[in-house]
Amino acid sequence: MTQRDGNVLVLNAGSSSLKYQIVDPATGEHLVKGLIERIGHDNATITHEYDGEKTHREVTIADHAVALEQMTEVMSETGLALADAGVVAVGHRVVHGGRNFSDPVLVDERVLAEIKRLGTLAPLHNPANATGIEAAQRILPDHAHVAVFDTGFFATLPPAAYTYAIDAALAKEHALRRYGFHGTSHEYVSARVPELLGADPASLKQIVCHLGNGASMSAIDGGRAVETSMGVTPLEGLVMGTRGGDIDPGAVLHLNRVAGLGVDEIDTLLNRGSGILGMAGATDFRDLMERVEAGDETATLAFDVYVHRLVKYIGAYTSVLGGVDAVTFTAGVGENNAAVRAAVCERLAWLGVELGEAANEVRSDNPRVVSTPASKVAVCVVPTNEELAIAQHTVAVIDSAP
Ligand code: AMP
Repeated sequence: MTQRDGNVLVLNAGSSSLKYQIVDPATGEHLVKGLIERIGHDNATITHEYDGEKTHREVTIADHAVALEQMTEVMSETGLALADAGVVAVGHRVVHGGRNFSDPVLVDERVLAEIKRLGTLAPLHNPANATGIEAAQRILPDHAHVAVFDTGFFATLPPAAYTYAIDAALAKEHALRRYGFHGTSHEYVSARVPELLGADPASLKQIVCHLGNGASMSAIDGGRAVETSMGVTPLEGLVMGTRGGDIDPGAVLHLNRVAGLGVDEIDTLLNRGSGILGMAGATDFRDLMERVEAGDETATLAFDVYVHRLVKYIGAYTSVLGGVDAVTFTAGVGENNAAVRAAVCERLAWLGVELGEAANEVRSDNPRVVSTPASKVAVCVVPTNEELAIAQHTVAVIDSAP
């Protein structure tokens, strides 16, 4: 036991939301978790879980500072006050670390200023992350606050993978390069795969498909990320809930010059009105699947585009890696949607992928192999746990602090 043993309050602040968990980094258990939504609106909600009980409230929450006050209030009223939760540090998810941050860092004034400055690269995320940090520093001023960056795991991408083929001076001046996102998830999941397969991590060539509302893929060689599908922002790559992923930049120009959309309208269209929502009007993958099963042609096309993009990227990443030992699915869709996994794996038969039909249908919270023993590539499902990963990084930072 070190004196720093204890729990970590993990915060993930979005522009109008705040997710929180108190996690024991040693056991992976969480004591409480909650979600505050519609911050800044009259009809904000707080959903809090403790000891198997769910509490739901509608409240007025002006900003993230008030959201954290509400969190402490609901904790006290439901049986575990923040002061009694054994919290030794706070871990913050920060989306963009830019070129300067790859490893998790202790937040000080300089770090906070840099996180804010990086708002130019992640306008939807970094300002909210910074606001969350400041609000948390106010309620826990004597605790260490650690920033864990979504881009961090991808700091190892080789230049050939992260460089955009545009004017080099302009790219340098504006820090335009591929950074990658969901790094905490890709790192956590890819570390579970060798444990699951009993394989040597140093020799494993992996592809991880993080398929949630946002979606990204990574190629990992011996534990080191060598490719990922998101770019300077989380817009590039796979088809997502409300983002379409790869698109010819010429189409963006066309939307402006010919369709007459302004920059902000195009931003909204690409971030919030594309992907599964744009193609089929479905806000949730479960709704899309119901319509696919009912034979709806628009929904079926959206599903096919989604799967096609995955298959295309897996082929490309297999080439980048020079072969692949394991393809792993994670996040909401990847963990729960057997139809997506089956459709992707069917088209990977040329690679020697053989999905176990019964294994693929099993629902479980545990990491599992869903390919047959004869499959030349292991297909795995590993539930992601970004909060645990952030909690573990946080204690590692405070344990190594002087
Ligand atoms: P995430 O961003 O990881 O929370 O994932 C959200 C996405 O996962 C949404 O599109 C959900 O429809 C999908 N999802 C979550 N649970 C399920 C489930 N049980 N079956 C199918 N899709 C699910």
